[in-house]
Amino acid sequence: MKPTDTFYGVRIARLHLELTEKCNAACPLCIRTNPDGLRPQSYLGTQELRLDDLRAFLPVELRRNLLEVHMCGSYGDPIMAKDCLAIAALFCTPNCSVSLSTNGSARSTRWWSELGRILAKNPKSRVDFHIDGLADTNSFYRRNTSFAKIIKNATAFIEAGGQANWEFIPFKHNEHQIEQARELSRQLNFARFTIKKSNWIFSEERPKIAFTDRNGKTCYLEKPSSIYMPDKGKTRASVIPDSDNQEINCLALFQNELYISCESIVYPCCWVARHARNIYLGKDTKDGFSELFQRYNGNEIFNLKRHSLEEMLHSHFFMALSEWWSTNQPPICFKKCGLKNQPEKIKTTNVTNGG
Ligand code: SF4
Ligand code: SF4
Repeated sequence: MKPTDTFYGVRIARLHLELTEKCNAACPLCIRTNPDGLRPQSYLGTQELRLDDLRAFLPVELRRNLLEVHMCGSYGDPIMAKDCLAIAALFCTPNCSVSLSTNGSARSTRWWSELGRILAKNPKSRVDFHIDGLADTNSFYRRNTSFAKIIKNATAFIEAGGQANWEFIPFKHNEHQIEQARELSRQLNFARFTIKKSNWIFSEERPKIAFTDRNGKTCYLEKPSSIYMPDKGKTRASVIPDSDNQEINCLALFQNELYISCESIVYPCCWVARHARNIYLGKDTKDGFSELFQRYNGNEIFNLKRHSLEEMLHSHFFMALSEWWSTNQPPICFKKCGLKNQPEKIKTTNVTNGG
């Protein structure tokens, strides 16, 4: 990345929104879940991005330039946000697609039909349902979810015209069901079935991970067969900061994309956002980005309740950030946007326009 590459003056085309820090589920490895008892981390509350906030933060001239809005985030599931439907309707147009990542196990089928009708306005719009198994296995990882409810919701969404993708993380306890799940996804008219290799979870040295459920029972998540583990040399973790060819190519900058957290704070991407939040909680973080963000008082100057996006994009911070990539080589940026970074997914398409 050359030091002159910067967000300054960039026309934002993509937004990643963390609508909320609330979630109905309690996945043991999620950043929001305390693995000792599967309750939400004590510092989480009910912060949300509301419709009126987003209208004010992103005036119509700015919204007009948008090509994609993704609703996911680090600490919550977008379907739990009060204004999720209204926000999807605000952004989804024939020119701008809207996508959501969700466990799918909240809200009524009526709500999902409405979301399907809203997203049908743009053929690239979609919902990624994260379903890691079938009726007897999905909730081992997606705790507190109901497989039957997810399937009813996805069906209502698809029947109303929405495009749905099934995303499946293989573990030892569910990998035998991959073909059955793929077949079910075809029968239910999911557009795509994707196996997400768990390159952020397991390694040969770390084949299983313990957690304690809400009844105090110790449980283990175990790594799947090697065919569902990422290839050696391609994992994000294999990117080493002091290697010669570790140039950073900022994905957010490349895609003209920004991230807005549920606290209304703007970051380049969700990966640095979750680390920067740690620093304000007084936790130790070695990501290399948070230090710069804190030095610039990012929590204050990148808060959309206090400053406009225009002001932020013209601030010195983004110039400093691009220099920071060259001089300080923040580990989080190397991990996510180093040259060798190759996230692995195996996708199968169920319908001809599934992408
Ligand atoms: S559904 Fe998503 S946000 Fe909710 S606990 Fe699981 S991983 Fe975290
Ligand atoms: S991890 Fe760093 S380099 Fe990658 S998108 Fe985020 S800010 Fe840019």
